[in-house]
Amino acid sequence: MREVKVFNTMTREKEVFKPVKEGEAKIYVCGVTPYNHPHIGNARPFVTWDVIRRYLTHIGYKVTYVQNFTDVDDKIINTSNGEGVSWDTIANRYIDSYFEVMDALNVRHADIYPRVSEHIDDIIAMISRLVEKGYAYELDGDVYYSVEKFEHYGELSGRTLDDMEAGARVDVDDRKHNPMDFALWKSAKPGEPYWESPWGNGRPGWHIECSAMSNKYLGEEFDFHGGGSDLIFPHHENEIAQSEGCNGHHPSVRYWLHNGFITINQEKMSKSLNNFFLVKDILAEYSPDALRYFLLSTHYRSPLDFSDERLEEANKSLERMTTAIENLLYLEGCEDGPCDEEAAELLKKAKAYEEEFEEAMSDDFNTALAGAPMFGLAKEINIYYQSVQNQSGTVCRETIAEVKRIFRMMTDILGILEQAWEGPKADGKEYDALMQVILRVRQHCRDKKLWDVADAIRDELNELGIIIEDSPQGARWKKREI
Ligand SMILES: [Zn+2]
Repeated sequence: MREVKVFNTMTREKEVFKPVKEGEAKIYVCGVTPYNHPHIGNARPFVTWDVIRRYLTHIGYKVTYVQNFTDVDDKIINTSNGEGVSWDTIANRYIDSYFEVMDALNVRHADIYPRVSEHIDDIIAMISRLVEKGYAYELDGDVYYSVEKFEHYGELSGRTLDDMEAGARVDVDDRKHNPMDFALWKSAKPGEPYWESPWGNGRPGWHIECSAMSNKYLGEEFDFHGGGSDLIFPHHENEIAQSEGCNGHHPSVRYWLHNGFITINQEKMSKSLNNFFLVKDILAEYSPDALRYFLLSTHYRSPLDFSDERLEEANKSLERMTTAIENLLYLEGCEDGPCDEEAAELLKKAKAYEEEFEEAMSDDFNTALAGAPMFGLAKEINIYYQSVQNQSGTVCRETIAEVKRIFRMMTDILGILEQAWEGPKADGKEYDALMQVILRVRQHCRDKKLWDVADAIRDELNELGIIIEDSPQGARWKKREI
Protein backbone atom coordinates (compact mmCIF):
# COMPACT_ATOMS: atom_id res chain seq x y z
CA MET A 1 0.00 0.00 0.00
CA ARG A 2 1.18 3.49 -0.84
CA GLU A 3 2.87 5.40 2.03
CA VAL A 4 0.85 8.35 3.33
CA LYS A 5 2.26 11.17 5.43
CA VAL A 6 0.10 13.31 7.70
CA PHE A 7 0.78 16.38 9.79
CA ASN A 8 -0.04 15.48 13.37
CA THR A 9 -1.11 18.43 15.56
CA MET A 10 0.05 16.46 18.60
CA THR A 11 3.68 16.09 17.52
CA ARG A 12 3.69 19.16 15.20
CA GLU A 13 5.40 16.98 12.62
CA LYS A 14 4.61 15.22 9.39
CA GLU A 15 4.56 11.50 10.15
CA VAL A 16 4.13 8.31 8.14
CA PHE A 17 0.62 6.95 8.72
CA LYS A 18 0.75 3.61 10.54
CA PRO A 19 -2.73 2.30 11.23
CA VAL A 20 -3.73 0.68 14.53
CA LYS A 21 -4.98 -2.30 12.51
CA GLU A 22 -3.25 -3.22 9.26
CA GLY A 23 -5.21 -2.10 6.21
CA GLU A 24 -7.83 -0.15 8.16
CA ALA A 25 -8.33 3.54 8.85
CA LYS A 26 -10.68 4.57 11.66
CA ILE A 27 -11.72 8.20 11.68
CA TYR A 28 -13.72 10.37 14.10
CA VAL A 29 -14.61 13.94 13.15
CA CYS A 30 -16.48 16.37 15.40
CA GLY A 31 -19.81 17.17 13.77
CA VAL A 32 -22.15 20.11 14.03
CA THR A 33 -24.31 21.44 16.83
CA PRO A 34 -27.61 21.61 14.94
CA TYR A 35 -29.07 24.97 16.03
CA ASN A 36 -28.65 26.78 12.69
CA HIS A 37 -28.04 26.01 9.00
CA PRO A 38 -24.42 24.96 8.24
CA HIS A 39 -22.08 27.85 7.45
CA ILE A 40 -19.02 27.84 5.21
CA GLY A 41 -16.75 27.17 8.21
CA ASN A 42 -18.70 23.97 8.92
CA ALA A 43 -18.42 22.81 5.32
CA ARG A 44 -14.63 22.93 5.15
CA PRO A 45 -13.77 20.03 7.51
CA PHE A 46 -16.54 17.82 6.11
CA VAL A 47 -15.45 18.32 2.50
CA THR A 48 -11.81 17.80 3.56
CA TRP A 49 -12.58 14.54 5.35
CA ASP A 50 -14.78 13.36 2.51
CA VAL A 51 -11.74 13.65 0.22
CA ILE A 52 -9.45 11.98 2.77
CA ARG A 53 -11.88 9.05 3.01
CA ARG A 54 -12.10 8.77 -0.76
CA TYR A 55 -8.32 8.80 -1.11
CA LEU A 56 -7.61 6.28 1.66
CA THR A 57 -10.26 3.99 0.16
CA HIS A 58 -8.72 4.42 -3.29
CA ILE A 59 -5.29 3.27 -2.12
CA GLY A 60 -6.80 0.21 -0.44
CA TYR A 61 -7.76 1.06 3.15
CA LYS A 62 -10.98 -0.11 4.71
CA VAL A 63 -12.24 3.17 6.17
CA THR A 64 -14.69 3.59 9.04
CA TYR A 65 -15.89 7.15 9.50
CA VAL A 66 -17.86 8.40 12.50
CA GLN A 67 -19.21 11.94 12.85
CA ASN A 68 -21.43 13.06 15.72
CA PHE A 69 -24.33 15.47 16.12
CA THR A 70 -24.17 17.51 19.34
CA ASP A 71 -27.94 17.55 19.78
CA VAL A 72 -27.87 18.48 23.49
CA ASP A 73 -26.37 21.93 23.90
CA ASP A 74 -26.98 25.42 25.35
CA LYS A 75 -27.41 26.94 21.87
CA ILE A 76 -30.09 24.41 20.92
CA ILE A 77 -31.89 24.92 24.23
CA ASN A 78 -31.78 28.73 23.82
CA THR A 79 -33.09 28.53 20.25
CA SER A 80 -35.89 26.15 21.27
CA ASN A 81 -36.91 28.40 24.20
CA GLY A 82 -36.85 31.41 21.86
CA GLU A 83 -39.14 29.70 19.34
CA GLY A 84 -41.28 27.95 21.94
CA VAL A 85 -40.66 24.47 20.48
CA SER A 86 -38.93 21.40 21.91
CA TRP A 87 -35.14 21.05 21.76
CA ASP A 88 -35.37 17.99 19.52
CA THR A 89 -37.56 19.86 17.01
CA ILE A 90 -34.69 22.33 16.60
CA ALA A 91 -32.05 19.59 16.44
CA ASN A 92 -33.97 17.54 13.85
CA ARG A 93 -34.71 20.58 11.69
CA TYR A 94 -31.03 21.53 11.44
CA ILE A 95 -29.81 17.96 11.08
CA ASP A 96 -32.08 17.79 8.01
CA SER A 97 -30.55 21.05 6.82
CA TYR A 98 -27.06 19.62 7.35
CA PHE A 99 -27.84 16.64 5.08
CA GLU A 100 -29.46 18.83 2.46
CA VAL A 101 -26.40 21.02 1.91
CA MET A 102 -23.78 18.28 2.42
CA ASP A 103 -25.60 16.03 -0.09
CA ALA A 104 -25.55 18.94 -2.54
CA LEU A 105 -21.79 19.28 -1.92
CA ASN A 106 -21.42 15.57 -2.71
CA VAL A 107 -20.15 14.73 0.79
CA ARG A 108 -20.64 11.01 1.29
CA HIS A 109 -22.50 9.95 4.42
CA ALA A 110 -20.61 8.82 7.50
CA ASP A 111 -20.82 5.15 8.48
CA ILE A 112 -22.31 6.21 11.82
CA TYR A 113 -23.82 9.52 12.98
CA PRO A 114 -24.12 9.14 16.76
CA ARG A 115 -26.21 11.71 18.64
CA VAL A 116 -25.62 12.76 22.25
CA SER A 117 -29.28 12.23 23.19
CA GLU A 118 -29.03 8.58 22.12
CA HIS A 119 -25.82 7.90 24.09
CA ILE A 120 -26.57 9.22 27.57
CA ASP A 121 -26.00 5.75 29.11
CA ASP A 122 -22.55 5.45 27.51
CA ILE A 123 -21.69 8.96 28.69
CA ILE A 124 -22.82 8.26 32.26
CA ALA A 125 -20.80 5.00 32.28
CA MET A 126 -17.67 6.87 31.17
CA ILE A 127 -18.11 9.64 33.77
CA SER A 128 -18.66 7.00 36.49
CA ARG A 129 -15.42 5.33 35.48
CA LEU A 130 -13.54 8.64 35.61
CA VAL A 131 -14.95 9.29 39.12
CA GLU A 132 -13.96 5.76 40.23
CA LYS A 133 -10.43 6.21 38.90
CA GLY A 134 -10.03 9.55 40.67
CA TYR A 135 -9.98 11.74 37.53
CA ALA A 136 -13.32 13.37 38.29
CA TYR A 137 -15.22 14.63 41.33
CA GLU A 138 -18.79 15.58 42.14
CA LEU A 139 -19.90 19.00 43.36
CA ASP A 140 -23.59 19.44 44.22
CA GLY A 141 -24.93 17.46 41.28
CA ASP A 142 -22.22 18.62 38.84
CA VAL A 143 -19.23 16.43 37.95
CA TYR A 144 -15.88 18.00 37.04
CA TYR A 145 -12.74 16.60 35.46
CA SER A 146 -9.66 17.24 37.57
CA VAL A 147 -7.08 18.40 35.02
CA GLU A 148 -4.17 18.14 37.50
CA LYS A 149 -4.73 14.38 37.70
CA PHE A 150 -3.96 13.87 34.02
CA GLU A 151 -0.23 14.10 33.36
CA HIS A 152 -0.56 14.80 29.63
CA TYR A 153 -2.99 17.71 29.96
CA GLY A 154 -1.97 20.53 27.60
CA GLU A 155 0.14 18.41 25.23
CA LEU A 156 -2.13 18.83 22.20
CA SER A 157 -2.41 22.61 22.46
CA GLY A 158 1.20 22.91 23.63
CA ARG A 159 0.44 24.76 26.83
CA THR A 160 1.13 24.03 30.48
CA LEU A 161 -1.51 24.32 33.18
CA ASP A 162 0.32 27.37 34.55
CA ASP A 163 0.09 29.13 31.14
CA MET A 164 -3.58 28.29 30.87
CA GLU A 165 -4.38 29.61 34.33
CA ALA A 166 -2.48 32.81 33.64
CA GLY A 167 -4.42 33.26 30.39
CA ALA A 168 -7.82 32.32 31.81
CA ARG A 169 -10.29 34.72 33.30
CA VAL A 170 -10.53 34.46 37.07
CA ASP A 171 -13.01 31.70 37.67
CA VAL A 172 -15.89 32.65 39.92
CA ASP A 173 -16.53 29.04 40.86
CA ASP A 174 -13.95 28.58 43.62
CA ARG A 175 -15.43 25.21 44.50
CA LYS A 176 -13.44 23.71 41.64
CA HIS A 177 -10.08 22.14 42.54
CA ASN A 178 -8.40 23.93 39.65
CA PRO A 179 -9.83 26.80 37.56
CA MET A 180 -9.24 24.73 34.39
CA ASP A 181 -11.35 21.79 35.63
CA PHE A 182 -14.24 21.31 33.21
CA ALA A 183 -17.79 19.95 33.53
CA LEU A 184 -18.53 16.35 32.58
CA TRP A 185 -22.08 16.48 33.94
CA LYS A 186 -24.23 19.53 34.67
CA SER A 187 -27.15 19.46 37.10
CA ALA A 188 -30.52 20.31 35.56
CA LYS A 189 -31.69 23.90 35.49
CA PRO A 190 -35.36 24.82 35.02
CA GLY A 191 -36.51 24.73 31.40
CA GLU A 192 -33.72 22.41 30.25
CA PRO A 193 -33.91 18.81 29.03
CA TYR A 194 -32.44 16.42 31.59
CA TRP A 195 -31.67 12.76 32.18
CA GLU A 196 -31.36 10.76 35.41
CA SER A 197 -27.87 9.97 36.63
CA PRO A 198 -26.06 8.81 39.80
CA TRP A 199 -25.47 12.54 40.52
CA GLY A 200 -29.10 13.54 40.06
CA ASN A 201 -30.98 14.90 37.07
CA GLY A 202 -28.84 16.71 34.54
CA ARG A 203 -27.15 16.59 31.15
CA PRO A 204 -23.64 15.95 29.82
CA GLY A 205 -21.00 18.66 29.47
CA TRP A 206 -19.91 19.39 25.91
CA HIS A 207 -16.67 17.38 25.66
CA ILE A 208 -17.54 13.99 27.11
CA GLU A 209 -19.81 12.94 24.21
CA CYS A 210 -16.96 12.70 21.72
CA SER A 211 -14.87 10.50 24.04
CA ALA A 212 -17.80 8.21 24.82
CA MET A 213 -18.98 7.90 21.21
CA SER A 214 -15.56 7.58 19.53
CA ASN A 215 -14.52 4.86 22.00
CA LYS A 216 -17.82 3.05 21.51
CA TYR A 217 -17.69 2.92 17.72
CA LEU A 218 -13.96 2.96 16.91
CA GLY A 219 -12.42 1.36 20.00
CA GLU A 220 -10.14 2.74 22.69
CA GLU A 221 -7.34 3.31 20.18
CA PHE A 222 -8.06 4.60 16.70
CA ASP A 223 -6.29 6.31 13.82
CA PHE A 224 -7.54 9.79 12.96
CA HIS A 225 -9.38 12.53 14.79
CA GLY A 226 -10.35 15.68 12.94
CA GLY A 227 -12.10 18.99 13.26
CA GLY A 228 -11.53 22.71 12.90
CA SER A 229 -8.45 24.19 14.58
CA ASP A 230 -10.75 26.14 16.94
CA LEU A 231 -11.49 22.77 18.57
CA ILE A 232 -7.88 22.04 19.61
CA PHE A 233 -8.41 23.82 22.91
CA PRO A 234 -10.34 23.13 25.00
CA HIS A 235 -12.49 20.52 23.20
CA HIS A 236 -9.87 18.11 21.88
CA GLU A 237 -7.51 18.65 24.81
CA ASN A 238 -10.36 17.65 27.11
CA GLU A 239 -11.31 14.70 24.92
CA ILE A 240 -7.80 13.29 25.31
CA ALA A 241 -7.93 13.76 29.10
CA GLN A 242 -11.30 11.97 29.29
CA SER A 243 -10.53 9.10 26.92
CA GLU A 244 -7.03 8.37 28.18
CA GLY A 245 -7.98 8.85 31.84
CA CYS A 246 -10.75 6.32 31.31
CA ASN A 247 -9.13 3.72 29.05
CA GLY A 248 -5.46 4.11 30.01
CA HIS A 249 -4.14 4.15 26.41
CA HIS A 250 -1.60 6.79 25.42
CA PRO A 251 -2.04 7.95 22.78
CA SER A 252 -5.61 6.81 22.24
CA VAL A 253 -5.77 8.79 18.98
CA ARG A 254 -2.76 8.30 16.67
CA TYR A 255 -3.11 11.38 14.45
CA TRP A 256 -4.86 14.69 15.13
CA LEU A 257 -5.64 16.62 11.94
CA HIS A 258 -7.04 20.15 12.06
CA ASN A 259 -8.45 22.46 9.41
CA GLY A 260 -7.32 26.09 9.16
CA PHE A 261 -9.66 29.03 9.64
CA ILE A 262 -11.84 30.57 6.96
CA THR A 263 -11.82 34.33 6.57
CA ILE A 264 -14.23 36.36 4.44
CA ASN A 265 -12.52 39.02 2.33
CA GLN A 266 -9.58 38.87 4.77
CA GLU A 267 -11.82 39.37 7.81
CA LYS A 268 -12.75 36.90 10.52
CA MET A 269 -16.20 35.47 9.91
CA SER A 270 -18.68 36.72 12.49
CA LYS A 271 -22.36 37.48 12.77
CA SER A 272 -21.65 41.00 14.04
CA LEU A 273 -19.61 41.85 10.90
CA ASN A 274 -22.50 40.59 8.80
CA ASN A 275 -20.23 38.25 6.89
CA PHE A 276 -21.54 35.00 8.30
CA PHE A 277 -22.03 32.88 5.20
CA LEU A 278 -24.47 30.00 5.19
CA VAL A 279 -23.76 27.23 2.69
CA LYS A 280 -27.33 27.31 1.36
CA ASP A 281 -26.98 31.03 0.53
CA ILE A 282 -23.70 30.46 -1.33
CA LEU A 283 -25.30 27.59 -3.26
CA ALA A 284 -28.05 29.95 -4.41
CA GLU A 285 -25.36 31.81 -6.38
CA TYR A 286 -22.68 29.24 -7.18
CA SER A 287 -22.73 25.59 -8.14
CA PRO A 288 -21.94 23.01 -5.43
CA ASP A 289 -18.94 21.91 -7.53
CA ALA A 290 -17.56 25.46 -7.55
CA LEU A 291 -17.84 25.76 -3.76
CA ARG A 292 -16.37 22.29 -3.25
CA TYR A 293 -13.47 22.93 -5.59
CA PHE A 294 -12.83 26.32 -3.98
CA LEU A 295 -12.65 24.67 -0.53
CA LEU A 296 -10.13 22.14 -1.89
CA SER A 297 -8.00 24.63 -3.80
CA THR A 298 -6.09 25.46 -0.62
CA HIS A 299 -4.41 22.86 1.60
CA TYR A 300 -6.73 21.93 4.47
CA ARG A 301 -4.39 23.18 7.20
CA SER A 302 -3.83 26.63 5.67
CA PRO A 303 -6.13 29.57 6.27
CA LEU A 304 -8.63 30.02 3.45
CA ASP A 305 -10.00 33.36 2.33
CA PHE A 306 -13.49 33.36 0.87
CA SER A 307 -14.30 35.90 -1.84
CA ASP A 308 -16.40 36.10 -4.99
CA GLU A 309 -13.21 36.30 -7.08
CA ARG A 310 -11.98 32.99 -5.68
CA LEU A 311 -15.34 31.35 -6.40
CA GLU A 312 -15.22 32.69 -9.97
CA GLU A 313 -11.70 31.27 -10.36
CA ALA A 314 -12.96 27.89 -9.15
CA ASN A 315 -15.73 28.08 -11.74
CA LYS A 316 -13.24 28.77 -14.54
CA SER A 317 -11.04 25.85 -13.47
CA LEU A 318 -14.06 23.57 -13.53
CA GLU A 319 -15.01 24.77 -17.02
CA ARG A 320 -11.55 23.84 -18.30
CA MET A 321 -11.81 20.38 -16.83
CA THR A 322 -15.37 19.95 -18.13
CA THR A 323 -14.14 20.69 -21.68
CA ALA A 324 -11.49 17.98 -21.31
CA ILE A 325 -14.12 15.50 -20.09
CA GLU A 326 -16.39 16.34 -23.04
CA ASN A 327 -13.50 15.84 -25.45
CA LEU A 328 -12.59 12.56 -23.80
CA LEU A 329 -16.17 11.31 -24.07
CA TYR A 330 -16.17 12.29 -27.76
CA LEU A 331 -12.88 10.44 -28.33
CA GLU A 332 -14.29 7.39 -26.61
CA GLY A 333 -16.97 7.21 -29.32
CA CYS A 334 -14.48 7.48 -32.20
CA GLU A 335 -13.49 4.56 -34.37
CA ASP A 336 -10.56 2.46 -33.16
CA GLY A 337 -7.37 3.16 -35.04
CA PRO A 338 -3.62 2.70 -34.75
CA CYS A 339 -1.88 3.45 -31.45
CA ASP A 340 0.50 5.97 -32.97
CA GLU A 341 3.21 8.12 -31.45
CA GLU A 342 0.73 10.76 -30.29
CA ALA A 343 -1.33 8.19 -28.43
CA ALA A 344 1.83 6.78 -26.84
CA GLU A 345 2.84 10.29 -25.73
CA LEU A 346 -0.60 10.93 -24.21
CA LEU A 347 -0.47 7.65 -22.30
CA LYS A 348 3.03 8.35 -20.98
CA LYS A 349 2.05 11.81 -19.76
CA ALA A 350 -1.21 10.57 -18.23
CA LYS A 351 0.71 7.99 -16.17
CA ALA A 352 3.19 10.63 -15.00
CA TYR A 353 0.30 12.90 -13.96
CA GLU A 354 -1.35 10.02 -12.14
CA GLU A 355 1.84 9.54 -10.14
CA GLU A 356 2.11 13.28 -9.43
CA PHE A 357 -1.53 13.38 -8.27
CA GLU A 358 -1.09 10.47 -5.88
CA GLU A 359 2.17 11.90 -4.56
CA ALA A 360 0.40 15.17 -3.71
CA MET A 361 -2.49 13.35 -2.06
CA SER A 362 -0.13 11.07 -0.11
CA ASP A 363 1.65 14.14 1.23
CA ASP A 364 -0.82 15.20 3.90
CA PHE A 365 -3.73 15.09 1.43
CA ASN A 366 -2.51 18.13 -0.47
CA THR A 367 -5.47 18.84 -2.72
CA ALA A 368 -3.97 22.23 -3.64
CA LEU A 369 -0.95 20.55 -5.27
CA ALA A 370 -3.14 17.84 -6.81
CA GLY A 371 -4.71 20.47 -9.07
CA ALA A 372 -1.60 20.85 -11.26
CA PRO A 373 -1.55 17.28 -12.64
CA MET A 374 -5.30 17.48 -13.27
CA PHE A 375 -4.88 20.57 -15.42
CA GLY A 376 -1.81 19.08 -17.06
CA LEU A 377 -3.79 16.00 -18.07
CA ALA A 378 -6.77 18.10 -19.21
CA LYS A 379 -4.43 20.01 -21.53
CA GLU A 380 -2.95 16.80 -23.01
CA ILE A 381 -6.44 15.41 -23.64
CA ASN A 382 -7.35 18.58 -25.54
CA ILE A 383 -4.17 18.40 -27.65
CA TYR A 384 -4.89 14.79 -28.63
CA TYR A 385 -8.52 15.70 -29.38
CA GLN A 386 -7.39 18.45 -31.77
CA SER A 387 -4.98 16.14 -33.54
CA VAL A 388 -7.67 13.45 -34.00
CA GLN A 389 -10.02 16.11 -35.36
CA ASN A 390 -7.40 17.42 -37.77
CA GLN A 391 -6.17 14.05 -39.00
CA SER A 392 -7.54 10.56 -39.20
CA GLY A 393 -10.57 10.85 -36.96
CA THR A 394 -9.65 7.52 -35.36
CA VAL A 395 -8.26 6.97 -31.87
CA CYS A 396 -6.21 4.45 -29.94
CA ARG A 397 -9.09 3.13 -27.84
CA GLU A 398 -6.87 1.34 -25.36
CA THR A 399 -5.13 4.64 -24.56
CA ILE A 400 -8.41 6.53 -24.31
CA ALA A 401 -9.76 3.97 -21.84
CA GLU A 402 -6.65 4.26 -19.66
CA VAL A 403 -6.61 8.08 -19.79
CA LYS A 404 -10.29 8.11 -18.86
CA ARG A 405 -9.61 5.85 -15.86
CA ILE A 406 -6.87 8.19 -14.64
CA PHE A 407 -8.75 11.45 -15.16
CA ARG A 408 -11.91 10.04 -13.63
CA MET A 409 -9.93 8.77 -10.61
CA MET A 410 -8.69 12.33 -10.02
CA THR A 411 -12.10 14.02 -10.26
CA ASP A 412 -13.75 11.26 -8.20
CA ILE A 413 -11.26 11.62 -5.35
CA LEU A 414 -11.90 15.36 -5.25
CA GLY A 415 -15.59 14.52 -5.61
CA ILE A 416 -16.22 16.98 -8.46
CA LEU A 417 -17.67 16.95 -12.01
CA GLU A 418 -19.72 13.78 -11.57
CA GLN A 419 -22.40 15.09 -13.90
CA ALA A 420 -19.91 16.04 -16.61
CA TRP A 421 -18.90 12.37 -16.85
CA GLU A 422 -22.47 11.41 -17.60
CA GLY A 423 -22.32 13.51 -20.78
CA PRO A 424 -25.02 15.84 -22.02
CA LYS A 425 -28.40 14.66 -20.85
CA ALA A 426 -31.78 15.82 -22.05
CA ASP A 427 -34.50 16.32 -19.47
CA GLY A 428 -38.00 14.94 -20.10
CA LYS A 429 -39.20 17.98 -22.03
CA GLU A 430 -36.14 18.19 -24.30
CA TYR A 431 -36.31 14.45 -24.85
CA ASP A 432 -39.87 14.63 -26.06
CA ALA A 433 -39.09 17.64 -28.30
CA LEU A 434 -36.24 15.65 -29.90
CA MET A 435 -38.54 12.69 -30.49
CA GLN A 436 -41.10 14.94 -32.18
CA VAL A 437 -38.39 16.14 -34.59
CA ILE A 438 -37.53 12.54 -35.45
CA LEU A 439 -41.19 11.63 -35.94
CA ARG A 440 -41.68 14.60 -38.31
CA VAL A 441 -38.60 13.62 -40.36
CA ARG A 442 -39.94 10.04 -40.58
CA GLN A 443 -43.39 11.29 -41.62
CA HIS A 444 -41.73 13.39 -44.31
CA CYS A 445 -39.96 10.24 -45.61
CA ARG A 446 -43.28 8.37 -45.68
CA ASP A 447 -44.97 11.22 -47.57
CA LYS A 448 -42.22 10.93 -50.16
CA LYS A 449 -42.65 7.16 -50.17
CA LEU A 450 -39.14 6.61 -48.83
CA TRP A 451 -40.41 3.52 -47.00
CA ASP A 452 -37.02 1.95 -46.40
CA VAL A 453 -35.68 5.11 -44.66
CA ALA A 454 -38.83 5.43 -42.53
CA ASP A 455 -38.59 1.75 -41.53
CA ALA A 456 -34.89 2.09 -40.74
CA ILE A 457 -35.65 4.99 -38.36
CA ARG A 458 -38.34 2.89 -36.68
CA ASP A 459 -36.05 -0.17 -36.37
CA GLU A 460 -33.08 1.76 -35.00
CA LEU A 461 -35.26 3.48 -32.38
CA ASN A 462 -36.67 0.07 -31.52
CA GLU A 463 -33.15 -1.14 -30.81
CA LEU A 464 -32.79 1.76 -28.36
CA GLY A 465 -35.97 0.66 -26.62
CA ILE A 466 -38.23 3.29 -28.18
CA ILE A 467 -41.37 2.04 -29.88
CA ILE A 468 -43.08 3.96 -32.69
CA GLU A 469 -46.79 3.39 -33.10
CA ASP A 470 -48.35 4.49 -36.39
CA SER A 471 -52.02 5.39 -36.45
CA PRO A 472 -54.32 7.33 -38.79
CA GLN A 473 -53.85 10.35 -36.49
CA GLY A 474 -50.07 10.19 -36.91
CA ALA A 475 -47.21 8.49 -35.09
CA ARG A 476 -46.63 8.32 -31.35
CA TRP A 477 -43.63 7.13 -29.38
CA LYS A 478 -43.20 5.35 -26.10
CA LYS A 479 -40.44 3.67 -24.15
CA ARG A 480 -40.56 -0.11 -24.04
CA GLU A 481 -41.46 -1.46 -20.58
CA ILE A 482 -38.49 -3.31 -19.18
ZN1 LIG B 1 -15.99 16.58 19.41
